[in-house]
This record gives sequence, C-alpha cells and structure tokens, in this order.
Amino acid sequence: MKNFEGYIRKFARDNNVEYEWQMLKFGYKRAAISCESWSEYDFIYNTLMRRKEIHVELWHCSAGGVFEGRVYVMTKEDYDGWKTAEKEEQRRHAEIRSNQDALTGLGNRYMLEKDAVDVIEHAIKTGEKIAVGVIDIDCFKQHNDTYGHIQGDRCLQHVADVLKNAVEKRGKAYRFGGDEFVLLIQNGEENTITSIAETIKKELQQLHIEDKDSGRQAAVTISQGYASFLPGRQESRNSLIEHADKALYEVKENGRDGFRIIVE
Ligand code: GH3
Ligand code: MG
Repeated sequence: MKNFEGYIRKFARDNNVEYEWQMLKFGYKRAAISCESWSEYDFIYNTLMRRKEIHVELWHCSAGGVFEGRVYVMTKEDYDGWKTAEKEEQRRHAEIRSNQDALTGLGNRYMLEKDAVDVIEHAIKTGEKIAVGVIDIDCFKQHNDTYGHIQGDRCLQHVADVLKNAVEKRGKAYRFGGDEFVLLIQNGEENTITSIAETIKKELQQLHIEDKDSGRQAAVTISQGYASFLPGRQESRNSLIEHADKALYEVKENGRDGFRIIVE
C-alpha cells in the first residue's frame, strides 16, 4: 500500500473520475481531486458517492469569490481501518491520562507503573517485603460465550469490587488488562497474603451473577498467584509481576479456582 496521497489538480469531467478510482486500485491510500467550481465539485461528489466501496469526503473553501474545492477518496476498507485505529488511539490516550480503567474504576497498568516505583522505594527503605498478586478469571472466554459480553463486563466489575475490598488499606488492586488483575500489597508477609486470598475466594463463592435474559446463575472462579519478596532497585513493573506469574501458572495447571504463594 502506498502511504501517500495522489492528487489530480485539474478535473476533466469525462475521464478523471475513473482515473481517481484507478489510483486507489494502484494502492494509494487517499486520492484527491481539485476542482474549480461548484458544478465540478457536485458532479465529482455525486458520481463517486454512488460507488459503495469507496468513502468520499468534501473539502472546500472560497476566498474573495475564488472557489476552491477538493474531493478526497479512500477505499471503504482503508477508511474503516483508519477510523478504528483512530478511536483505539483516543481511548488509549484517555486511559493513560486518567490512569484509571474505564470499566472497573480500578487503577490501570499505567497507574501500576507509577505506584510500583513508590512501593519498591518504600520496601528498600524499610526492609519490609512486598507481595504481588496476579489474578485471572477462570474460563472467562466461556463465560462471555455463554452469557454475552455485557454480562461479562458486569462480571469484571464484580471481581474488581471484591479485589478492592479484600486488599483495603493493605494495598491496591489494578486491572492489568482483559480478565487479568494485579494486587500490590505492602508489608506482604505470607499470613497477610493467605488472609487476602481466602477472603477473595470466599467472597466470590457467594457471588452469583444472574443472567437477566435466561435467569441462569453464573458462578465465577478465579486463579490467584502471589509472590512475597524484598524487591531490588533494578525491579520494574513487569519484573514484579513475573515473580507472581509463575505461581498463577501453577494454579491454572492444577485445575484453577485456587491460590498459590511463593515466598522468596
Ligand atoms: P483461563 O482459565 O485459562 O484464564 O481461560 P480464559 O478463557 O479466561 O482465558 P483467555 O485469556 O483465553 O480469555 C480471556 C477472555 O477475556 C477473552 C476475552 O474475550 C475476554 N475479555 C477481555 N477483556 C474483556 C472485557 O473488557 N469485557 C469482556 N466481557 N470480556 C473481556
Ligand atoms: Mg482467564
């Protein structure tokens, strides 16, 4: 795909509309026809608009009575891809700015990045261990497939609330992405973690999400992996998570719905 615009400066009614279309077929991402009068402008626009497979945009200005117009053309496919990429980029920027996950209200991975620096600093200063928890909903894809995506979103919100309440003042919960959450716990000795992990498990056992359409009750289980350790200066957000990832992997391998704590 040629990533630049092709221009046709002067429009000749009979052949340039066809030529415009050819440029797109040759791989130009966007082509434009310059036109010098309203009638040219209308004619090109109306002719191109009839083609369902292309997207047409108008741009015109007139200064001091001199008309200048331009008709931009893209293939529909490129236009849709471009719009989707633009929306995703805007969403990502908004999330980075707010540091908050839009769905659950928990801190997002960018906030985790910031907080990790403080938690590591504090642990090094005091010599207190920290605990990192990586938590992942079990068979969540199936949950979505059975109960639908909106219900899946509600489930993520419920889990987020349970995690937030379980860590309370001892730490903080983050949505890392998808169905994965991270807990950062200061002063994370093994007994503190055990208590948090059991609370989470118990709370989730009591939680039954009702599917409004079918009336079915959905049970939700999660797998929890924790690591308790004294972080080093070279530690980063991702390396913190790696400590606990191994524990999570073991829980998943052993049939899910449980927790494992690695004490380093
Ligand atoms: P496992 O027990 O191994 O974790 O299985 P799983 O199905 O949970 O794992 P997988 O990573 O394959 O699936 C995660 C699913 O989470 C896939 C995706 O559709 C869903 N998901 C990710 N983000 C969202 C979201 O924001 N809302 C909803 N409803 N679903 C989401
Ligand atoms: Mg999962």
